[in-house]
Amino acid sequence: MPVDTQHKNAFTSTCCYCGVGCGVVVNREKNGTVTVEGDKAYPVNKGMLCSKGMNLQYTVNDKSDRLLYPEMRYNKNMPRQRVSWDTALERTAAVFSTFIQKYGPESVAFYASGQCLTEEYYVINKLIKGFIGSNNIDTNSRLCMSSAVAGYKMALGEDSVPICYDDIELADCFYVTGANPAWCHPILWRRVEAHKAENPDVKIIVVDPRVTDTCAIADLHLQLNPGTDVTLNHAIGRVLIENGDIDLDFVRKHAQGFEQYREVVFQKTLAKSAQICGLTEEEIRLAASYIGNAKGFISMWTMGLNQSANGVNKNLSLLNLNLITGHIGKPGSGPFSLTGQPNAMGGREVGGLSNLLAAHRNLNDLAHREEVQKFWGGTVISEKPGLTATEMFEALNDGRLKAIWILCTNPLTSLPNVRMAEEGLKKAKFVVVQEISNKPETLAYADVVLPAAAWAEKEGTMTNSERRVSYLHKVIEPPGEALPDAEIICRFAKKMGYRGFDYPSFADIYKEHTQLTVGTNIDVSGLSYEVLKASRSIQWPYKTGDVGDGTARLFTNKIFYTPSTKAIIHSPSDEVSSEQPDVDFPLILTTGRIRDQWHTMSKTGKVNKLKKHVAQAFLEINPADAERLKIAEGDIVEVKSRRGEVRVKAKLSPGIKQGVVFLPMHWGKILGSDLNRANNVTSELLDPISKEPDFKYCAVEVQKYQKP
Ligand code: SF4
Repeated sequence: MPVDTQHKNAFTSTCCYCGVGCGVVVNREKNGTVTVEGDKAYPVNKGMLCSKGMNLQYTVNDKSDRLLYPEMRYNKNMPRQRVSWDTALERTAAVFSTFIQKYGPESVAFYASGQCLTEEYYVINKLIKGFIGSNNIDTNSRLCMSSAVAGYKMALGEDSVPICYDDIELADCFYVTGANPAWCHPILWRRVEAHKAENPDVKIIVVDPRVTDTCAIADLHLQLNPGTDVTLNHAIGRVLIENGDIDLDFVRKHAQGFEQYREVVFQKTLAKSAQICGLTEEEIRLAASYIGNAKGFISMWTMGLNQSANGVNKNLSLLNLNLITGHIGKPGSGPFSLTGQPNAMGGREVGGLSNLLAAHRNLNDLAHREEVQKFWGGTVISEKPGLTATEMFEALNDGRLKAIWILCTNPLTSLPNVRMAEEGLKKAKFVVVQEISNKPETLAYADVVLPAAAWAEKEGTMTNSERRVSYLHKVIEPPGEALPDAEIICRFAKKMGYRGFDYPSFADIYKEHTQLTVGTNIDVSGLSYEVLKASRSIQWPYKTGDVGDGTARLFTNKIFYTPSTKAIIHSPSDEVSSEQPDVDFPLILTTGRIRDQWHTMSKTGKVNKLKKHVAQAFLEINPADAERLKIAEGDIVEVKSRRGEVRVKAKLSPGIKQGVVFLPMHWGKILGSDLNRANNVTSELLDPISKEPDFKYCAVEVQKYQKP
């Protein structure tokens, strides 16, 4: 095992922040604290860590905000009191059983997180889909990768990232769109930077309405108008076709849909497309020439495409660029969705969204449902997709949903139009919050609070952006009576009277998951805790009998997972269905992350060092817009939409397009007031297929705040 063997208390693990999935060594010190260092032997990061990873130990060592004991109240008018685990879980089981009996299994729901370990995801899915009998399990991955999942399934037949990180050093053109990996996937981006430094001819195209740190090494920054990604990708596709820079042999033999695609991308002139995107024809031609001349072409994207009312169309239009050029299934080439959360991929493996089934099976396929039901030995699995993240809170508002169990996520900062979600929790008949911290806003509405073990206080597995599964050691005991999330769910399932949750160990949960993948495209039946501990990490698929490090690349045989085995070139519409600016709300708001914070700051917000980069929420605004609105640097501004308002300091930046403003998404009541919460104003619009919210585009007005 590649650990510091001199240090008897050194344990390998994986960073619990982003989907890059850097390897770390966690040292258990004599005083009970931990120290963390990058794992030099780990292939992902080779010892490097970003600012968040370097400060992981503080989030574990500082126990001042930890929930220590279960708490409960019998009615909404009384304060919660400390109770035993048995009391809390028996009461919860009684309430859930009553609602299920009275209103049906769809009256209860679980809302979880891409930060859950695979074992945790697995047992929650088994519980609600296999025993309670509804598909009301969704996670904050819905807010993150669901458009990419839908895009992959539609184009490649399966939710499967085709490439591996080692392809970075083999590529000579990167098209980075809707992503700021220099801040949000830093260690991965360091590899791109190093590759570019060694090979100046490598071309990097960045597509973003803002100038970000990622642009620092870009050969071309396409500062497009927000929302116009499909138009741009179609225009690049058109130029590639015009120039003969497509792989016709690949397209004829291994793809379908090209003829219609060609018709669609030629419907607009290049001049018209350039005008819509706010770019020049030359810029589009240059991007197409970089892609067309590349021997290895990687497209990289994340929330800028996914978090959109047209997120799936944006994904499909991007995947097309790899398909028409044949840049897929070979070293140094492929579409590469940058997963936001550390285990969003692992969650999808076990079917961790309300429209998915275990091991990438299809919920709408009777044979698949029966296969899983037989394996679990539970109730009939419903074919009806469950409620998605935002739909759950709407259903609390209108009374369809009676009880919600929220674990490992803070929806009252992270959901769009968050005041609607807050109203939902106020109206909920019963709320369970399973958490590590006493800070999240959800606790104010909880009838039952269940203290959970944090990273390094439990064992399990995660899968990173390149399908790399790793095992995370338990290093220290959780504080108080906190328990691992999987154990809490299993104890609850047993209180509900369900069989099949009496696992002797977490390794047995994982083993069951791997057995359920047999015969699927993500077969990991060759994996176990022993195998993962010995090898440190392996990329799926990895069947029984497989040896080595797993599968670096998919589709090397050009056989896709579609019924025809051909990749599908779709012809998505470039219509923008986001909320459009008007006289009352004339500016476009986009939201995003900053370098040193993670999600709703319940962990990174505890680390003072990480506040030095950016200490407060802010509104980024172009100086020309600021001048017109009589706003100076540092002024408090009020950002208003049809849904609410935010009050933060103005930060003037020529790097953002005129007519566009930017708010970071991290702040909420945890660190400040709800007036710095970006999601007070964001739009409730969803992509019609992925149901991912439109965080990157809504209409707002901005004015200098005048005290009443
Ligand atoms: Fe952790 Fe991501 Fe930073 Fe790596 S890049 S250390 S996984 S936050």
